Amino acid sequence: PPVLCTRALSRTYGDGSAAVHALREIDLEIGEGELIVLLGPSGSGKSTLLNILGGLDRATSGEVRFRETELTALDDRALTAFRRQSVGFIFQFYNLIPSLTARENVDLVREIADSPLPAEEALELVGLAGRMDHFPAQLSGGEQQRVAVARALAKRPALLLCDEPTGALDLKTGIRVLEALVEINSRYGSTTLIVTHNADVARLGDRVIHFLDGRVRAIETNAARARPS
Ligand code: ADP
Ligand code: ADP
Repeated sequence: PPVLCTRALSRTYGDGSAAVHALREIDLEIGEGELIVLLGPSGSGKSTLLNILGGLDRATSGEVRFRETELTALDDRALTAFRRQSVGFIFQFYNLIPSLTARENVDLVREIADSPLPAEEALELVGLAGRMDHFPAQLSGGEQQRVAVARALAKRPALLLCDEPTGALDLKTGIRVLEALVEINSRYGSTTLIVTHNADVARLGDRVIHFLDGRVRAIETNAARARPS
């Protein structure tokens, strides 16, 4: 069975003539362990979908199921519990705490997880074994984002949701971050969704879901998905 499933999922901001239809009746099924790329122009609804799937936002209508749980039926407390336990978020800006080292930033989310990875292991996986005791200001942008990846990963989340994870990085450091995400997806089987408007990122996905104006325009399957070398 799919790990995530949506039925006629819609999200509207505002109402009346000022209403913005961010998502219009989205039907999707995402398999356990898939690496999905959500591609589309700015404003097409990608972030809105990611936030609803991760329990940061709610649908206006329709259904969202994570395994056996209907997310739209959860109250705020249960939705927060789902998010804390099952979802790792990675955003464009890394949101690290400046007064804590890389290791301490990662340790912070381990405290709320059921069976977290050791911070050292998470940081090694993203290639930062030698940077554990550095503070964010001592790290490059790409390294800071890899700490954010390690932080999300340390929860061992069922879902890894990444919103423009390379949006603030140059090409070379962006590739290192994507490599870490692909490695995590292969090694731990975390179902991973990556929002991007960069078509070069798309070849990493098992499937690429193309968004336009709040709708799914096309779904492309990569039989032999490209791996960064
Ligand atoms: P994308 O991630 O593809 O750039 P978004 O999901 O961020 O698209 O936005 C989809 C649409 O919803 C856009 O028209 C955007 O302006 C609108 N939107 C997003 N968030 C809000 C909000 N909090 N209030 C009002 N409109 C919003
Ligand atoms: P917590 O209070 O335990 O950090 P939340 O329920 O606030 O948990 O968020 C759940 C997950 O989403 C956490 O991994 C948190 O880091 C991440 N998260 C939520 N909102 C943001 C944000 N605006 N910036 C960075 N991370 C966020």
